[in-house]
Order: sequence, then structure tokens, then C-alpha cells
Amino acid sequence: MTAEEQLRCDVVEVGRRMYARGYTASNDGNISVRLGTDRLLMTPKSVCKGFMTPDMMCITDLAGRKLQGDRDPSSEMLMHLEVYRERPDARAVVHAHPPIATGFAVAGIPLDRAVLAEVLTTLGSIPIAEYATPSTSELPAAVRKYIRAHDGMLLANHGALTVGADLYAAYYKMETIEHFAKISLVARLLGRENLIAREEVDRLQGLRGTYGIKAPAPICADPSEVLSVLDSGDPATCQVVQAPHGAGQRLVPDVVGAGGDGRSGAPTAPVEGEEIRLTYRELSALIEDAVRQLREA
Ligand SMILES: [Zn+2]
Repeated sequence: MTAEEQLRCDVVEVGRRMYARGYTASNDGNISVRLGTDRLLMTPKSVCKGFMTPDMMCITDLAGRKLQGDRDPSSEMLMHLEVYRERPDARAVVHAHPPIATGFAVAGIPLDRAVLAEVLTTLGSIPIAEYATPSTSELPAAVRKYIRAHDGMLLANHGALTVGADLYAAYYKMETIEHFAKISLVARLLGRENLIAREEVDRLQGLRGTYGIKAPAPICADPSEVLSVLDSGDPATCQVVQAPHGAGQRLVPDVVGAGGDGRSGAPTAPVEGEEIRLTYRELSALIEDAVRQLREA
């Protein structure tokens, strides 16, 4: 089997997994992978990703001109081309509409809290690219803002996008995003999220090399810094991970304190003398915490 034949089969397999896991419905989603330096293998327009065959794929150049294939390339080709232009290191791009992550994208809530070590090391913070009409040139423009600093992002009111050093790496990041969204949703339904401390986040970042992760660091060290500079010297918009300073420090749930919009996730600092209303569960959690701290002291 030639390298191209293998990649065609890989695209079919990734499409099958996306559909089987419910990341796409109908003909949603698209997949592309680099064929050498100047060509792309891409899923065609208007096919269900769960039932593709290797011969269906299109080959285009990096300007989007079709070089081979009976069908037209994906309607989101412009977005894929933009990613390859901005990220010479990316060899594959996956786009889908996984329902829980897309729910966060619809609610306008980025997956930016330091909650899971494997997400911090593989993806860092997962921002939301501003809403853009699908399949128009607006979408690549929205993606451009974050793609230099992030391997995965949500697309407002649309879905999610991931890139990787190979096709499976890009696909697994899509799985990670949806899994993370699911866990975040459950934790928020349960009423609290214990955030990983900034010091531990920095430590996890330091371990990325050990895990063989070479993609650009998706976590800004300085929360006041929105624009960071990559190793390559290129400026990149980076979304900061929310991680409190101090080991074991717990973020007070959003529901505590008035005026929180529930979006930023930042703890609302109580003003002295101000009344704070707690639910029974929150009160119990605070008491449990206090008792634990007394025991540990
Ligand atoms: Zn889409």
C-alpha cells in the first residue's frame, strides 16, 4: 500500500469514528491531511463521514485548486487551507460538531479552566473563535486569531476544530475536547470544580517535552498577556488557562456571590459585610473543607 492509499484509508477510519461517536450528524464535519509538502487529501462535500470510501477523497493544492477526485472538496476547505498556511507544523485538520463541546460553543463558555492534566498538556486552554458564517471566508478569519497558539478550539455556534502532527493526533484532540466538555458539564452540574493550581499547571507545561508534545505552548504564563510570542518569533493570540495561584486553592463556584455572569468563571470576591447566599450543598462543601483543613493542620 502506498503512503497515499494508507492516508485515504485513515481518513475513512477517522470519519467512521467521528460518526460512530456522534461527533457529526448527516454530512457534517470534514477532514484533511497533508500529502507531501504542497498537496492536501480532503474529504469531499456532502457525504456522511461515517460511510466514506477511500476513492471518494479529493486532492487539492494549498491554494484550494482541485487536482484529483470525482467530487468537490469540503465546503469548509477555506478554513482548512487557512490552518495549513498559519501552521506549517500541522499535518492534519479535523472539524466536527461534537454535541457537548458544541453546547459550550453555543453558550459562549470556553473550555479554559485548569481541570484535567491531560487536557493541559495536550491542548492547554480551548478558546472559542468568534462566530462566522460556515463555509465563507469569515470562518478562516475567525480561526486565524487563535490557531497559531492553539491546537484545538471551539467555533462559536458551530462546532470544534483540531490540528495535529498527523491525522490521528488531530482526531484524538477532537476526542479529548468532547470528553473534557462532558466532564466539565458534569462537574458544573454537580456544583463545583476544583481547579488545578497555577504552579501545577506550570509543572505540567514543563513535562510536555517528556510526553513528546511539540506543538506551540497553548498556555500563557502571564494572565494579563493576551498576545504571546511563539518560539518561532511569530505573534499569536493565546487564551489564558484559569488556574488559581497556590497549591490546593479552590475556586469558589460561580453561583456564589452576586453579579457573576457565569462566563468568566473567575471567583467573585466577597465584599466584607456583604451578604452571601449559599445553597445547602455549597454550605456543606465549605464546612467539609474547613474540617479537612483543620484535620490537616
Ligand atoms: Zn461545521
